[in-house]
Amino acid sequence: KAAPMAPDSPDPAPEFDTSQPTIARVYDALLGGKDNFAADREGAATYLKYVPDAGRCAIENREALIKGVQYLVRTAGIDQFLDIGSGLPTQKNTHQAAQEINPDAKVVYVDKDPIVLAHGRALLATNNSTIVVTADLSKPQEILDNKEITTHLDFTRPIALMIVGIHMHFHDDEQPDEWVRTIMDQLVPGSYLFITDFVDTGEPLQKAMEQAGLESLGNGWIRTPERITEHFLGLPLVPPGLDFLARWFPEDPDGDVPEVEDLQPYQRILMAGIAKKG
Ligand code: SAM
Repeated sequence: KAAPMAPDSPDPAPEFDTSQPTIARVYDALLGGKDNFAADREGAATYLKYVPDAGRCAIENREALIKGVQYLVRTAGIDQFLDIGSGLPTQKNTHQAAQEINPDAKVVYVDKDPIVLAHGRALLATNNSTIVVTADLSKPQEILDNKEITTHLDFTRPIALMIVGIHMHFHDDEQPDEWVRTIMDQLVPGSYLFITDFVDTGEPLQKAMEQAGLESLGNGWIRTPERITEHFLGLPLVPPGLDFLARWFPEDPDGDVPEVEDLQPYQRILMAGIAKKG
């Protein structure tokens, strides 16, 4: 077990089981971060064995996250974010991308891995507009009933729900769409749903990514674009719709978009989309 990490926090710091990899820490290792342990670095090595450019996939996913947040603040006028499966803090995070454009934007980070809370507290010690909560997407009602969250965000105004890079961890049998629907049902019209996910368009490297996840973490499934579209619960997608990360730019959907054939194989592993609740 690792030593507790938030020395000046009012709550007892959680203990971490460092003998098993967690996706938050494996992802951190792939992004070149330092908040990971030997088992996580082994997990990252498994990813790199199957997908040598897995680190670049992770970086592209972070770039897409920032593009999506910038669109939501600048173009859609959103100033409240519920970022579930937020991961460990890295170079630029949701609150930084949002508050660069609107300093009053409020962000709630939710992650089931308590290490995210410990590290988030340190990062956010001086940021009153952002909080971190440990909670599980599979218990959506607990998220909706969480007083810290309902005090920080105003549920009578639009909120962007972010499910970025986390759907792949759930098997369809677990009914992740129902969890997301429970939350979206409580958001007012004008709210948004932002998703990135592993895709299956029949390419070997996509299957290799799935294999790496199953071997290192026991999850990390890929899905067809049609199935990912269902994650948006029938809500209309904003242009350009669902697309590979490198082609996806909601602020300039008609811009200089590379052809799919010109993308590197590693650039065809994740897709992104944003839907609006009317
Ligand atoms: N959203 C960030 C991004 O895209 O850069 C981080 C993605 S990381 C691959 C997935 C995160 O989802 C991890 O931090 C993991 O702990 C979290 N996660 C996985 N299952 C979860 C659940 N059921 N509830 C909340 N968080 C979860």
